Amino acid sequence: VSDVVEVRIIETAERRPSRILAVASGKGGVGKSTLSANLAVALHRLGLKVGLVDADIYGPSQAKLMASEDQKPVAQDKKLVPVTGPHGIPMLSMAHLVEPGKALAWRGPMAGNALGQLIDAHWGDAELLVVDMPPGTGDIQLSMIQKHKPAGAVIVSTPQDLALIDATRAVSLFAQAGVPMVGLVENMAGYACPHCGEMSDPFGQGGAEQEAVHLSMPFLGRIPLAIDIRRRSDAGDPPAAGEGAHADVFVGIARKVAD
Ligand code: ADP
Repeated sequence: VSDVVEVRIIETAERRPSRILAVASGKGGVGKSTLSANLAVALHRLGLKVGLVDADIYGPSQAKLMASEDQKPVAQDKKLVPVTGPHGIPMLSMAHLVEPGKALAWRGPMAGNALGQLIDAHWGDAELLVVDMPPGTGDIQLSMIQKHKPAGAVIVSTPQDLALIDATRAVSLFAQAGVPMVGLVENMAGYACPHCGEMSDPFGQGGAEQEAVHLSMPFLGRIPLAIDIRRRSDAGDPPAAGEGAHADVFVGIARKVAD
């Protein structure tokens, strides 16, 4: 890692328009990484050239979600070359660079520097970089937004009030930096009992859609709480890559994002 971290990013005189789509949440555990992986896969299915950046420096999960843990990026002309996993999407995560299970004890500037290297890599002709942001609204998030100027942001929240309050904070962080809101996604909405099919709402229902209206931003869709989503995610086989209702939900969200 130290070799990579020491590489200085050479700013090119001509900066292209941002192709970064930030996927963010007010707090962890609401499904930001799950949405990022599936959104990248669904956008790829729609024919877009996408790349995926795991900006969750301290808790990277994209290598596992996208079954690319065994890959190691190389550096070319002092920039990283993304790896491509079985789902055909070029991607970079700290998990490709550090030993699995090893805690990173970096302070903000170092983490920010590492993140810069994941973003300023050889992304080739990628039209859109889906960036799985670190959870929350702290320093790393702010400096990432200021430095890399995302073209837009998708916010993910569970329907619960507390999560929504945090999501609102994330919305305001992007708004302050002048980043357009692509929309809000409600995750873990509605659970169908695998035995009797009865629907229940462990985290409430509809809260994010109301919040989107309240914040005057588009509502992009609702992802159910489903064992299959968790199981496939853990197996590195994003539901968006398959068929059926869950794949349709992610492709539906991707269509709205691509518009
Ligand atoms: P975050 O990136 O916000 O921390 P994750 O995407 O890692 O959240 O999700 C946290 C956990 O919840 C993971 O184990 C993931 O598989 C699971 N999960 C996320 N969304 C769903 C869902 N809709 N249904 C079932 N499990 C989910």
